[in-house]
Amino acid sequence: MKEPITITELEVWKVLEQIPDPEIPVISITELGVVRDVKIEGSAIAIKITPTYSGCPATNVFEQDIKTEMEKLGFEQVNISFQYSPAWTTDWLSEEAREKLRDFGIAPPEGTTKDKKFLLGEDPTVKCPQCKSTNTVMTSQFGSTACKSLYKCQDCLEPFDYFKCI
Ligand SMILES: [Zn+2]
Repeated sequence: MKEPITITELEVWKVLEQIPDPEIPVISITELGVVRDVKIEGSAIAIKITPTYSGCPATNVFEQDIKTEMEKLGFEQVNISFQYSPAWTTDWLSEEAREKLRDFGIAPPEGTTKDKKFLLGEDPTVKCPQCKSTNTVMTSQFGSTACKSLYKCQDCLEPFDYFKCI
């Protein structure tokens, strides 16, 4: 006879907070805002996640990480479902996550998707995460991953990734 699961949903959230984003390991998947819902049903757990960028290979990685962690907690069944609506947006990034991105050398998304500039498709003014200069230029639409653009600071001459605003 197995021990009944006594873990609360709050404790599950705490474990999820420890799972790093596969692409940006300094922020967790909860800070990224992809975990939408956690529900414990007996020895089963249902977790709803909203993938970030569609086709982002990171989704498969953290889906597996979630499964592994939940099995470690003793859940016999781990049901991960995807919720595509509302779609994930960079607006869901916590302020803490934006700060960590900067420390990691990635410029966080500027503003929110509600900005007029964004709607007009104009390039945002991106601040250099190193020296905070706004004298930056986009050097490539795609950075180290499809979710980022490559920028270069014209003051400190450092190249950096910009987390695209979506
Ligand atoms: Zn700079």
